[in-house]
Amino acid sequence: MGYWIFVALALAAIAAALVVPHYRLKKAIDAPFPDEWVGILGRNNAVYQRLPQDLRHQLHKLVRQFLHQKHFSGAGGLEIDDEIRVTIAAEACLLLLNRKTNVYPALRYIIVYPAAFIVDREEIDEAGVVSKGRADLLGESWSNGKVILAWDDVLHGSRNFVDGENVVLHEFAHQLDSESGSVNGAPILAGVNGLRTWATTFSGEFDELQKDAWHGKRSLLDHYGATNPAEFFAVATETFFEKPAQMAKHHAELFEVLKGYYRVDPREWHAQVVSAQAGVRVKGQSKK
Ligand SMILES: [Zn+2]
Repeated sequence: MGYWIFVALALAAIAAALVVPHYRLKKAIDAPFPDEWVGILGRNNAVYQRLPQDLRHQLHKLVRQFLHQKHFSGAGGLEIDDEIRVTIAAEACLLLLNRKTNVYPALRYIIVYPAAFIVDREEIDEAGVVSKGRADLLGESWSNGKVILAWDDVLHGSRNFVDGENVVLHEFAHQLDSESGSVNGAPILAGVNGLRTWATTFSGEFDELQKDAWHGKRSLLDHYGATNPAEFFAVATETFFEKPAQMAKHHAELFEVLKGYYRVDPREWHAQVVSAQAGVRVKGQSKK
């Protein structure tokens, strides 16, 4: 009898361990999205108010899940508050709209510095020479469940959604890339055909960008994308969301491949972002 009671209790404990986190997550996702958070997004995420209503609704749920599952910590004296958490979560979750997603399942921690942070770097070149150096970074993505960001650059990138630079989109594109098992510019893609088209388009565009960077020729994609295929994917993601019309015109195949992957067409709302931001600039100039 005692044995069966023990088995029943053990089974109940296992069931509770499986069901309770799921229940808590569902409760968090379904909770109303606070007005205060809507205010934060209205101020900080230039794209938020231009999104169609169904995507905004999806974004609310993704942000809720993100904030329920990820742990934020401040570094360099920065205190984490809702403004930092909600702004970063919303920008990161833009990459997940219209997709079946577990919301960056490998990511656990987001560490936020007030401004660009300095890291010690040790690099090994092809000849095996190890060099140590220090670098200023705006963001960093690790495959072991960590993203590091500089808050002032996060804010600049999310408020200015037309310059093609966005550190959150960049680092979270690396997170998507790492879900395939290696950070190589090819995230998890559906089917062999998807992978083949991706490889052909990306390698051609990557070669072009390398040539432009080598010759110092101006290009729509930032030259930093010529560093390696992983950086190319991250930079192409920034351009896709922040300069969609130009990308569709000048890099049509790349745009189509990314549109298939991200399952959104940012051209649908981006013209409104551009005109809203032009208004802000005009107002700023008139103050002088
Ligand atoms: Zn990068």
